[in-house]
Amino acid sequence: MLKLFRNLKPFALPIAVALAMVFAQALADLYLPTLMSDIVDTGIVKGDTAYILRIGGWMLLVAAGGVVCAVVASWLSARVGMGFGRDLRRKVFAHVERFSLHEFDTIGTPSLITRTTNDITQVQMFTMMMLRMMVMSPVMAVGGVIMAVQKDAKLTWVLVVVIPLVAAIVGITASRALPLFRTVQAKIDRINLVLRENLTGVRVVRAFNRIEHEKRRFDAANLELTEVSIRVNKLMALMMPLMMLILNLTTVAIVWFGAKRIDLGEMQVGSLMAFIQYAMQILFSLLMVSFLFIMLPRASASAQRINEVFDLQPQISDPAAPRRADHERGHIELRDVTFAYPGSAEPAVRDISFDARPGEVTAIIGGTGSGKSTIVNLIPRFYDPAAGAILVDGVDIREMAQEDLRNRIGFIPQKAVLFNDTIAANIRWGRDEATDEEVAHAADIAQATEFILAMSEGFQSVVAQGGTNLSGGQKQRLAIARALVRRPEIYVFDDTFSALDFKTDARLRAALRRETGEATVIIVAQRVNTVMDADRIVVLDDGRVVGTGTHRELLRSGGVYREIVSSQLSEEELA
Ligand code: ADP
Ligand code: MG
Repeated sequence: MLKLFRNLKPFALPIAVALAMVFAQALADLYLPTLMSDIVDTGIVKGDTAYILRIGGWMLLVAAGGVVCAVVASWLSARVGMGFGRDLRRKVFAHVERFSLHEFDTIGTPSLITRTTNDITQVQMFTMMMLRMMVMSPVMAVGGVIMAVQKDAKLTWVLVVVIPLVAAIVGITASRALPLFRTVQAKIDRINLVLRENLTGVRVVRAFNRIEHEKRRFDAANLELTEVSIRVNKLMALMMPLMMLILNLTTVAIVWFGAKRIDLGEMQVGSLMAFIQYAMQILFSLLMVSFLFIMLPRASASAQRINEVFDLQPQISDPAAPRRADHERGHIELRDVTFAYPGSAEPAVRDISFDARPGEVTAIIGGTGSGKSTIVNLIPRFYDPAAGAILVDGVDIREMAQEDLRNRIGFIPQKAVLFNDTIAANIRWGRDEATDEEVAHAADIAQATEFILAMSEGFQSVVAQGGTNLSGGQKQRLAIARALVRRPEIYVFDDTFSALDFKTDARLRAALRRETGEATVIIVAQRVNTVMDADRIVVLDDGRVVGTGTHRELLRSGGVYREIVSSQLSEEELA
């Protein structure tokens, strides 16, 4: 919590003003009962109307001043709270942007979303409350005690009994609520996860008639949240009436014992009234502290979750003195690379070695799950290998700046990702300053022009969120155009061609050959047709390289490649 509050520094001035205003308001509130007792004990007893009017007018003035201070304080603390929340969200977002895929795997996307929204809101609300109560409560409590003692020292023993009692109740409730609030936030994460899966996978849910199943899953998560929330609220609900009861019993005790003292002539009626008011102010300030304590566990649970995000340092970061690799153009070397995903014991790929040279096409072929995507994801350094090294132009990519490395790569992932913007803007994602001609040219090479022009507004047509208004193959071709417009030194196509029909696949690759020229091209595929004419084919099986060579060489040596080929091509095609 305290760590997060360091972010309040820019708000020092409004906070100081707000606290001063609260202080002034508290003083005004403390002064009013004394004025009232003066009116009763002096003015009314003596029947001095002028005195009553004078003090009464003064009372009005003090009360009005208090109200103005309260309004200003509320306004300022609301502004500070909101600004604080805004800054935190901005910071979390910026921090998460630096994460490598490893950190996303660790915290989980749904939880990251809750932490940036709900958790920050909790902290923000608490900050607002705190600014109002932090000064108010102690001033009212201490000031109230001083004023009460002044009014009648003998009656204060009532307070001596009551105050520790109230403090104990507040303490016990808060300590029991803290773990529950932490659970509440975790349950919100869970709801977020189920909801997200259900919404993004809505087609599958419908197609497999899993609506009922999903409903039950959501209901279960929803119910869990409800149950924990009810338990917390029960605890809190118990506290309120208990406090009110204590408050009222205190009043009764004061009136009871005060009346006896008035009988004895040791106290005046006005003083008794003022005393009751001071007792209320003291207990109310304790009650306010208890509100703060109600919110504190929840806010501190949230603060902890936010800090966890900040504490997570990206495993992949730039070296202190990055090296540039510019004496060659995109020569990639993998040396005995082994990699295991976080949390899995078995490496997904092991001892992978191959070369991909500029001006050549290097293909990687293998069945599903053989580790093709894993290997190409290591090249832009989405993950770091556990052993071995990847070199670009002779420099280990861990010694390069990530931005430098990625600027040189045109990466087309297995699952094309498009953004809710125009087609042209989506292609221009590859390079902001690309001209219209360059965009059109890239679309041409990617064999996308035909379907783009068939759309109602051509290049200005808007891609729906998640690209739902395009087919898989169309999305892939836009993703290819995006990489082409970048004119990188290294192209990586991860299973990009499998969503295309054979004819488009062939045409696209022919056009690509001309376009990519001296660049290094890595093509991942499952279809023999796609890789046949590559300069070098790397055959993968179960995370290992089981053959490297050209189509002819590999055919001659038999093994896995021959099996793949004979399962896909007819005898004539083979010959
Ligand atoms: P391919 O692209 O050849 O179909 P992948 O490289 O995607 O295969 O996957 C290789 C292996 O790594 C598979 O066994 C898969 O279960 C595992 N794997 C892939 N992605 C992850 C991930 N994010 N976390 C854990 N395991 C993964
Ligand atoms: Mg794959």
